[in-house]
Amino acid sequence: MSVQHLSSINNAFISTVDHLPTDIIRSLWLVQSCNIEINKLEEELKAKDNMSASEFTVLKMQLNRLYAEATSEAQALYNQLVTHKITLKDELQQLQSVSKNRNTSTIHPDKLKQQLEEHYKQHPLASFEKQPKAPIKLVLKVSKKKPTKKKEKLAPYVPPPPIEDPVDTTLYCFCKQPSSGDMIGCDNETSCPNGDWFHYKCVGIMNRVQALPYTTGKKPWYCSEYCRHQVARRRRRR
Ligand SMILES: [Zn+2]
Ligand SMILES: [Zn+2]
Repeated sequence: MSVQHLSSINNAFISTVDHLPTDIIRSLWLVQSCNIEINKLEEELKAKDNMSASEFTVLKMQLNRLYAEATSEAQALYNQLVTHKITLKDELQQLQSVSKNRNTSTIHPDKLKQQLEEHYKQHPLASFEKQPKAPIKLVLKVSKKKPTKKKEKLAPYVPPPPIEDPVDTTLYCFCKQPSSGDMIGCDNETSCPNGDWFHYKCVGIMNRVQALPYTTGKKPWYCSEYCRHQVARRRRRR
């Protein structure tokens, strides 16, 4: 049996669980109902003593037709099972060869990732140099002269590690996606539960002009009523 294209894998198994049981039941049911009919006609044949020749011929023809039908149905079922067995065997062979190849020649995704990271550490791409997430906001926040707790913790200058993960995979925003394009920060800075930074389009800000009141610090911007209340409550407590 030749090994078919890999996309055919699973077809035999799906048909095993999906079609085959119904096909078997239907065939067996057909054979059985033929047999019931045959028994009935044979009883009739035995019971009648004085049967005309034409009556006998009709009955005999009916019986022959039923025999033929039952036999051909059983034969068809047998052929189907034989073919199905061959297909399953073929599928099994394909799966075994796939799993063997996987063990020997395919690189595990984790290993591949590690190799790539290693490569980019040695040959960094210019386009991967880390950029601030939201340049405008970051610059202007510094001018607010209202250092957050976060910044106080980071007070002593620590030179950035020479090698950094080239891609920022942190998830932000309500959409739980990485940083991209212009983003605005929630002013519930220390405890925003929604990801701290938000894509303009996700929070209904059309452009930088519209964001200006917030990015210049004239107005606080909160991602949600929850964050607004949190900050208000903290102010009251002070
Ligand atoms: Zn978003
Ligand atoms: Zn928030």
